[in-house]
Parts: sequence; C-alpha cells; structure tokens
Amino acid sequence: MELDRKMDSEPLKEGLPTDEELERIKLFKGVNLASIKPLLKDCPIINLGKDEVLIEAGRPEEFMYLVLSGLLKVQLQRNDDQPITILQQGESVGEISILDQQPTSGYVIADEETRVLRIDEETFWKIVEISHVASNNLLRTLAYRLRFGNSVMHKIQSLLREFEYDATIDPLTGFYNRRWLNKMLGRLIHRCQSGEDGGRPLSVIMMDLDHFKNFNDTYGHLAGDRALNSIAKSLTEHLRPEDTITRYGGEEFLAVLPGSDLQEATHVAERLRLAVEETALFSVEGESLPPLTLSLGIAQMGEDDHQDSLIGAADKALYRAKNGGRNRVSD
Ligand code: GH3
Ligand code: MG
Ligand code: MG
Repeated sequence: MELDRKMDSEPLKEGLPTDEELERIKLFKGVNLASIKPLLKDCPIINLGKDEVLIEAGRPEEFMYLVLSGLLKVQLQRNDDQPITILQQGESVGEISILDQQPTSGYVIADEETRVLRIDEETFWKIVEISHVASNNLLRTLAYRLRFGNSVMHKIQSLLREFEYDATIDPLTGFYNRRWLNKMLGRLIHRCQSGEDGGRPLSVIMMDLDHFKNFNDTYGHLAGDRALNSIAKSLTEHLRPEDTITRYGGEEFLAVLPGSDLQEATHVAERLRLAVEETALFSVEGESLPPLTLSLGIAQMGEDDHQDSLIGAADKALYRAKNGGRNRVSD
C-alpha cells in the first residue's frame, strides 16, 4: 500500500541529526559542521514509512531533503516497478527544484523506513553562502546528475532502437514484417510514381516455397524453421542494397525493387529462384536434406497502381507460376 505524506501539515520536529549522520551527508563533506549546525536547527527531520511518498511529480517543491538513513526510490511514474535511481544515506534530492524553481519531474518514495532532513530554500542559500566547500559539493552533485541524465538518455535511445527493431523485423528470417510493409510500401510506390525519384519504375516479386507443408510433415517443423532461416539468408545475399524483402506470410515473401522494370525484376527473380534451389538444407541432427524450390510472381507498378493492386497483381502471377508447375518465375 502506498501512503501519502500529508503535504500540508508541518512535520513534527524530532530532534536534530547527529554529528555522525551529518558527517555522512555528501553536501557537507569537508565542511566545518560547527558552522553549519546552527543553520539546521529549524530544519525538521521527517520519518517516512515504507512506500510513503516524499515528493510528487509535477508539484512545486521548495525543499531539499538529505537522507539521514534508509533508502529513497526516484521514479517517473508513481507505480513504476523500476526506479530510475535509488538514493542512499548521505545523498540529497530536491536541490534542482530549488535552483530552477520548476516543478519536480519525478516521484520520490521511501523504499524502507527512511529519515530525511528537510532543508528549506532560505537555509539552502545560507549554506551555499557561508560554505565554499558545500557549494563545491553541490556543484559536484549537479555535475553527477547531468552525467547520469545523459546516460539514462543513451539507454533509452538504445532501447527505442531495440523496440523498433523488434517491431519491424521477423526474427526467424531477419526480413521486415508485414507491419513494416504496410507502413513503407505505399511511400515507396508514391515516391517512384510522383517523380520524387524522377518517375522511376518499381516492381514487386511475390514468392512462396513449394510443397513446404510436405517438407514440414516429412522432416519436422524444426527442420522447416531451419530451412526458412537458410533460405532467407540466400535470398538476402541475392538482392541489391536498395531492394527490400518482407516475410509476407509463413513461407511467403515479398521483395520490393525500386528502380526495376519487369525485365530487370525477371532477372532478379530468376536469380532468387536459383539461389533457393542451391541452398543446402540440414536436419536438426545435421543430416543433409533435399533442397526446396520457390515459385515467384512479378508485377511492375503501373501509373494508377496502389499497394493492394500491385500486391494483387504479383499474387496472381505467383498463382500462374504454381499452376504452371512450380519452381518458376511468372508475370
Ligand atoms: P504450395 O507449393 O502450394 O505452396 O504448397 P505448400 O505446402 O507450400 O503450401 P501450404 O500453404 O499448404 O503450406 C504451407 C506450409 O508452411 C504449412 C505451414 O505449416 C508451413 N509454415 C508456415 N510458416 C512456418 C514456419 O514459420 N515454420 C515452419 N516450420 N513451417 C511453416
Ligand atoms: Mg503459402
Ligand atoms: Mg507454399
């Protein structure tokens, strides 16, 4: 259960922090405590129970808190299960809000029973004024916070990249997935049609492995997975950098070839067909398996084509390749 500290009621003053506690405070490291202690005499100690909220995001905060004992979690959302950071004995929180007068950006919640010393704005500035060493310590803390912020940003950036990768790439083949295709094909078509790319041709190749159900039934689903993986590698090797390939369905792939007319796409398709025929396949135990073959249907984009009509045309061509006996290219 989460408890809210009564923000509006003044905390009871419960004695002063001990010298030992003050010595552990980073802000006071190297500071003559005798000069600081009189300033702290009106600063209350707040005892927080586990899960008690000390600072709420978005609220103006006019205090800085020094952790005398216990642990504080800093988190962006109230119910995050992963805090951004944990503050231990000796650390401080809230100084940035005093400096920039902006509302706090996160929640600070006690992770266990915690004692904090509450420093008001006036006392904060007095400490800075009378102690050069404390000011230095404060600068160091701020520099650390800045660096920490940067490292969090780096982590978030690489996580975003990872999520983006997972959201657009099919793990078994390494090909783009349908989601990516739905987002990108329309744009690619538009770019080639509109003349942004100088009115270039664009062709697509719809492919489907032949008798793959048979292969699965004979050698097992795992061998089927491996075959898909090996064939995907071969296909990728035989496409040009500008071409993209999508896992359209289970054993169906769609290649998009910007800049290729029907004739060029026919060459590419024939190359892909041969590549699959020549891809060595193995069982889970490493035994050699007979090769698979691929049927391919090609369509070149017309002036009025859109995503669905173009895919539809390639699908029809694929159907003709299947009906014509499989392991062939048709348009
Ligand atoms: P056709 O030549 O007419 O295309 O025959 P086919 O057997 O390839 O076609 P069908 O649509 O009957 O079967 C497709 C098979 O592909 C069935 C399905 O289990 C298999 N398949 C689809 N996705 C995967 C996959 O990720 N892994 C494995 N191992 N098999 C898959
Ligand atoms: Mg199929
Ligand atoms: Mg098939």
